[in-house]
Amino acid sequence: MSERVVLVTGGAGFLGSHLCDRLMALGARVICLDNLMTGSIANISHLIGRSGFRFVQHDVIAPFDPNEPVDEIFNLACPASPPQYARDPIHTFQTCVLGAMNMLELARANGARIVQASTSEVYGDPTVSPQPETYRGSVNPVGPRACYDEGKRGAETLFYHYRQSHALDARIARIFNTYGPRMSPDDGRVVSNFIVQALTGAPLTVYGTGQQTRSFCYVDDMVEGLMRLMAAPGRGLGPVNLGNPGEFTMLELAELVLSKTGSGSSLTFAPLPQDDPRQRRPDIALADQLLDWAPGVPLSEGLDRTIAYFAESIHQGKTGE
Ligand code: NAD
Ligand code: UDP
Repeated sequence: MSERVVLVTGGAGFLGSHLCDRLMALGARVICLDNLMTGSIANISHLIGRSGFRFVQHDVIAPFDPNEPVDEIFNLACPASPPQYARDPIHTFQTCVLGAMNMLELARANGARIVQASTSEVYGDPTVSPQPETYRGSVNPVGPRACYDEGKRGAETLFYHYRQSHALDARIARIFNTYGPRMSPDDGRVVSNFIVQALTGAPLTVYGTGQQTRSFCYVDDMVEGLMRLMAAPGRGLGPVNLGNPGEFTMLELAELVLSKTGSGSSLTFAPLPQDDPRQRRPDIALADQLLDWAPGVPLSEGLDRTIAYFAESIHQGKTGE
């Protein structure tokens, strides 16, 4: 892979920084593009200054230099946590749609292959479970999550049309909830919230009854899936689900985190956010067939690694809680 130039948008974020690590380890030249809205330089500080790695602070809602030569693009730029993407919903929508458009144009100018980080949120509050790629979803276009859900759906539409109209090799991953080291401790997602709360003795904030379900994929498995999607033969692959089919209620997750941390934290219940999906579980038959991919890290093991990361961060005084 040496001399291959790979652009990672959102490369200073949780998932993007792990992807940059993996690409650097394989000898690619990596351009990490990020506006640092929810990501941080700390996530990539170990890469800065290394030969073959370049960080560019840039907002993807603006076009990126079409003369920049790139061979592959991973388009990950976008806040992923509901409180974060709802903070400036118009900018989130612009990030999803204009960001996708600008990266597709860059891919077109270079004849590059491009992978879009779409999301299980395109299924909304699903009425079928598990969700196969053929399920068209149940999304509220005028609710607080719409800037993200509909923005990502719009991005998928753009990817589809750039394939059809410009024969671009545009690929789509539908990513289900992913967790691991380098999640921001205060971005509001459930895994980081519960772990930081448990480690600091704060009550675990369960929204609603805690009976809603999610399927959690460890970050290393997700990076492997994204790499395979980029490398797979063919043109214009996906959408393809990437996620771990293990399904847990939020109460089960809370109990697991409490027992693993040995925490005496209590549970406190808060209202369920509007349009919060009641269930989510990927059907990954297509990923198996196209990419020979399935996740290998069970939740119990991934939580151990993530808890160790947050324990160390708290020890070093890096979290606000
Ligand atoms: P994250 O918030 O940690 O990372 C997102 C990165 O994008 C951050 O570094 C942020 O600063 C950057 N960014 C946001 N808006 C930008 C803009 N307009 N221009 C340039 N940079 C911008 O989130 P993450 O969990 O690493 O998610 C990465 C991608 O994967 C996102 O596109 C997200 O929608 C997708 N995804 C993630 C999950 C998950 O569970 N982690 C699930 C589904 C989809
Ligand atoms: N959630 C919770 N407590 C928290 C944060 C989230 O119970 O402190 C719930 C949230 O309502 C949702 C689930 O956990 O039902 C997953 O939330 P997250 O924000 O991690 O991901 P998403 O809703 O985008 O799948």
